Amino acid sequence: MSKETPPKSLVSFCAAILPQEAGGPDPSDLAVKLMLYLKRLPKDFARGYLTAVNIFEAISYAKYKRRISDLSIEEREELIQKLYRNKITFNLIEALKALVLLVNGAYSNAPEIAQAFENPPVRPDVNLDTVSAGYFPSISRCDVVIVGSGAGGSIVARELSAKGAKVIIVEEGQHHASRDIRENMPLDRFASMYRDGGATALLGVPPVIMPIGKGVGGTTLINSGTCYRTPEKILDVWYNKFGLDFAQKDEFSQYLDDAEDTFQVGPVPLEVMGNNGLKTLQGAQKLNWKSGPLIRNAPGCDGCCQCAIGCPHNAKLGVHLSVLPVACQNGAKIVTDLRVHHVITEGSKAVGIAATRSDKSKIIIYADLVVISAGATESPGIIRRSDITAHPHLGRNLAIHPAVAVAGRFQEDIYPWRGVLQSASVEEFHDSDGILVEATATPPGMGSMVLPGVGSKLLNQIAGAKHLVSLGAMISDGPNGRVLGKNRTFLTYKLSDRDGKRLIKGIEVCAKILFAAGAVEVLTGVSKKSVLRNESEIKELASLADYKELHLAAFHPTGTVRAGSDEQICPVDKNGKLRGCENLFVIDASLLPSSPTVNPQISIMAVAKAVSERIIASYFS
Ligand SMILES: Cc1cc2nc3c(=O)[nH]c(=O)nc-3n(C[C@H](O)[C@H](O)[C@H](O)COP(=O)(O)OP(=O)(O)OC[C@H]3O[C@@H](n4cnc5c(N)ncnc54)[C@H](O)[C@@H]3O)c2cc1C
Ligand code: SF4
Repeated sequence: MSKETPPKSLVSFCAAILPQEAGGPDPSDLAVKLMLYLKRLPKDFARGYLTAVNIFEAISYAKYKRRISDLSIEEREELIQKLYRNKITFNLIEALKALVLLVNGAYSNAPEIAQAFENPPVRPDVNLDTVSAGYFPSISRCDVVIVGSGAGGSIVARELSAKGAKVIIVEEGQHHASRDIRENMPLDRFASMYRDGGATALLGVPPVIMPIGKGVGGTTLINSGTCYRTPEKILDVWYNKFGLDFAQKDEFSQYLDDAEDTFQVGPVPLEVMGNNGLKTLQGAQKLNWKSGPLIRNAPGCDGCCQCAIGCPHNAKLGVHLSVLPVACQNGAKIVTDLRVHHVITEGSKAVGIAATRSDKSKIIIYADLVVISAGATESPGIIRRSDITAHPHLGRNLAIHPAVAVAGRFQEDIYPWRGVLQSASVEEFHDSDGILVEATATPPGMGSMVLPGVGSKLLNQIAGAKHLVSLGAMISDGPNGRVLGKNRTFLTYKLSDRDGKRLIKGIEVCAKILFAAGAVEVLTGVSKKSVLRNESEIKELASLADYKELHLAAFHPTGTVRAGSDEQICPVDKNGKLRGCENLFVIDASLLPSSPTVNPQISIMAVAKAVSERIIASYFS
């Protein structure tokens, strides 16, 4: 299909969601942009999207004998409202709508995003020893090969290369320096820095959207930069229940200190926090609830709110700016655009990895040690493809910190995207209910995805987005998910009744904060009570909200190859070694035996350092 001719049904769908007659964009133009984005997503996803859009066109024909785009604006709204009454079509329209709004928002706000580039980077791009797979030999050898350059893999690379090991890091994504980030359109940044263009989700009721980073630096490239130490009560579980010696508090606290020093963490300064965080703190303070600026790894951050599509200022010190440069100075090399297929074994010993370039040609890297650090959703698949273990718990135990988004409308201008993307927290219900509230905005234009309704009402909501304060409430979950699949990851999640109720409580907590801060209404995301007009309406939520209908997102997958001393339930032993295979370690979010209950990057880095020290003691001393 040519760029100029998107399917008519797609044009129709754009016209139904954002009618031009009511001030929306030209639907043909929007459909062209949507097509360009769909082409960046997995083929089966794009195909499914277009099929679903065709179904709506067919429904329009059946009822009105005309395409949706040929209906009057009133007929279009009538049609969509009718479809909204059915749970299945409601969820489908909402899912399809999210992409229309993402594309529309990203394009219409591109000038605001580019304006932030007027401030130069606070530190120069670093020299990493990267080589694209196309220029890397088909067969090579090193001491240690590490799969994945994210929070876990980078620390192992830094620690082992410091002991003189010849390290090669294999990364499926690309290297994105700040100059590349500044040169690319927001949607291109989104599409290229996320696995499957950001279209990853867990199948379940309700489904959960779970984007995952892909690139040098892993998910730290696009994460929000929030840094929490692992809570002591979680360390007690890891030490006492799972037998992880390194989780002993005094020892682990040194690893946490190291991660925090590496990231130069500090509280978000109030001057750059922005109204999203400031209003949140005001609300929490009025309620006398435990709250404060978040601790982040972004010295010099100017609050441009683009963390989720790569920091254009090199302020956020993801591992690509803080850990990998040290590893490369120690001699480590990063091979990019290379997908590891499996671990090569001889008998019960790992001896290297087999990988595929984007043109499908093969690369083999032989090594004395293999470390899998591909993240909690990808590491189980690599292990399955390697046929080295049939451990029944491989891929199970997936915790994700499911989260709801709640927004408060204020009379005054807020501009939530002018300030730090994730800026302040309310911890009042963290210990008691496992609920952590974080003031979280999105890059300019990308937050309209969560706004309710369609047509002229939705356009009004978009126009009023500058009045919104946006909060996320995440819960410490189950674990209730699984990573299935061998060649391609397939994720499932079964939200438990207990966790579903806690998410609804999370919405109530956010609503209280927002009303206390002066919101005139709160958008709940609950279909039967999408808008609360005042605080007294909050109590209606518990009876009206069905957690199976919530719009959930998650950002913290952990636990799918958990470590511990019990060989029945832990595929990896307490030192990070995969059971049943010599010289093979798993070191990333998969290893965490239970949900850390807080944003996990610091915990992952600390665990990676702990396991690295054990590897050094066994192999390099
Ligand atoms: C939008 C977003 C915001 C977040 N915000 C925060 C935050 O503020 N604070 C926080 O603590 N956490 C945050 N997180 C989570 C945090 O970034 C991750 O938990 C952490 O980076 C995971 O580390 P990891 O080493 O397990 O995997 P990753 O950092 O994801 O690294 C894995 C790497 O392996 C590569 N890889 C995968 N498969 C292969 C293969 N077959 N071959 C080669 N390479 C492969 C991937 O491309 C990836 O680069 C956020 C996550 C998201 C998505
Ligand atoms: S808000 Fe995020 S993207 Fe913007 S400068 Fe700060 S860390 Fe970087």
